[in-house]
Amino acid sequence: MMLQGKSVFGGIAIGKLAVYRKRDSQVKRVKISDAEAEICRFEAARELAKEQLGALYEKALKEVGEVNAMIFEVHQMMLDDLDYIEAVANMIRTQKVNAEFAAAAAGDNFSEMFAAMEDDYMRERAADVRDISNRLVAVLQGTAAGGIAGHEPVILLAEDLAPSETVQLDKSRVLSFVTRGGSTNSHTAILARTMNIPALIGVDFPACAAGREGEPSGEERPAEEDWLAWDGKTGIVDGYTGMLYVEPDEETLAEYRAKKQEDEQKKRLLQELKGKANVTEDGREIKLYANIGSVSDTANALANDAGGIGLFRSEFLYLESEDYPGEEVQFAAYRTVAENMAGKKVIVRTLDIGADKQADYFGLAREDNPAMGYRAIRICLDRRDIFKTQLRAIYRASYYGTISIMFPMIISVSEVRQIKEIIEEVKAELDAEGIPYRDCELGIMIETPAAVMISDLLAKEVDFFSVGTNDLTQYTLAIDRQNPKLDNLYDAHHEAVLRMIRTVAENGHKENCWVGICGELGADTTLTETFIRMGIDELSVTPSMILPVREAIRRSRASSQNFIR
Ligand code: PEP
Ligand code: MG
Repeated sequence: MMLQGKSVFGGIAIGKLAVYRKRDSQVKRVKISDAEAEICRFEAARELAKEQLGALYEKALKEVGEVNAMIFEVHQMMLDDLDYIEAVANMIRTQKVNAEFAAAAAGDNFSEMFAAMEDDYMRERAADVRDISNRLVAVLQGTAAGGIAGHEPVILLAEDLAPSETVQLDKSRVLSFVTRGGSTNSHTAILARTMNIPALIGVDFPACAAGREGEPSGEERPAEEDWLAWDGKTGIVDGYTGMLYVEPDEETLAEYRAKKQEDEQKKRLLQELKGKANVTEDGREIKLYANIGSVSDTANALANDAGGIGLFRSEFLYLESEDYPGEEVQFAAYRTVAENMAGKKVIVRTLDIGADKQADYFGLAREDNPAMGYRAIRICLDRRDIFKTQLRAIYRASYYGTISIMFPMIISVSEVRQIKEIIEEVKAELDAEGIPYRDCELGIMIETPAAVMISDLLAKEVDFFSVGTNDLTQYTLAIDRQNPKLDNLYDAHHEAVLRMIRTVAENGHKENCWVGICGELGADTTLTETFIRMGIDELSVTPSMILPVREAIRRSRASSQNFIR
């Protein structure tokens, strides 16, 4: 069977299909007859959960250091807590309920008990108990952490994936994403690009095709159960044409194996550009940096020869957590990136939460217009405790490398001045505590038309601008980047957007402010020469696009009399 979708990242994937199962937030109470068998299930789940935690400990140890990895060891120990184990087993025996329900109920009881304690340390354990019981429930429901059971890398099929779900996936086990929903400019799509794997959205899965209004329920369309039954079958994702093949015949498989080899050959050729300069034919040098969303992406950035990190989307640290990440956790993450980049520039963007990037613990209210709502710098200037924690962590990490800081969704000079005041407070605190830090270059994202229009004034306040074309396009064209129906109208090549970028470059340079682009448009090689001629100083792109953009820079000319734009 062949299904057409829209590609958000090229490449070929061949492998087993796996249906992504969201965790049930409501654990059902089911009557069981054999309590001892149910307790055995619980014991097996406990062992598996401990194994998962062991693996997470090893991963975290490498990525964020021992202090932060320790939490997984603590969780392993909590899974051996006799009081908790007995509470679950008793409930299964006396109430004849399923293990999932008993584990969740015992987790709730214990975490309520901890939450009511006087001692700060004990109170904080409430979230840990909830965390371990959630993990047990997920294992029992067959939805291993990250939604993928088994060990083999798979092509993941999902109705939709929220950014918070995407960041929690075990990247080493995902060959490709295929979703029914989603839009090309969503953060989930951006994450797929960062992961450097072929990804499709808008594939007309049979789940809804069977019953969608106004559409023929064609015979050729399988029923909903058939889609779920694709689990474990062979699939092919063609990230160039947007096709998904389910159980392809031998001929198609052979054709795609050959295409995949060709693809790998092309990638190998690009590798020859490693170590070469990002210089135009007529000698202008452009900075070429990488966009990352996690500490582990740094390896990918370095492997692709990034000259620095042009956008560290720090909000993904928040989306990965069950609660606000504290100063130590953040410090370890920024420090690790700074150290791994060994003195190369790392631009940390402060928290850009809200709109499609939601973390439950923020308790953000539903909004009619979330993209234009309570998000990003608006939250940070309102909830200063959160903002200051992040700034303290970034400044502390600045001592270990070359960190710059930039702020998202700016619309006014007054916001920038407030930010600078808060930064002065943070530095004064660090001075008083004798904690070393370096002065960081400060910049802002230019992603609202307001920021473009006052870029002459903003340029007097900061060291650099980075144009966020994803949001700038959405606000300029009044096209919601999340709305799949409007994907065709979301035209980042629109003259209005290009003129804005040019204005920003001109206004920035008048005040000695360097100007980069970190939105997805920066990786569009058909525009590389245009950007260079506008005077753009830096391009920050998803790691796998660094070498293709380098190739485009090297065949560009920075000046030409015939240049029209
Ligand atoms: C942008 O808006 O272009 C940008 C880089 O930020 P994000 O995609 O994270 O909103
Ligand atoms: Mg943005």
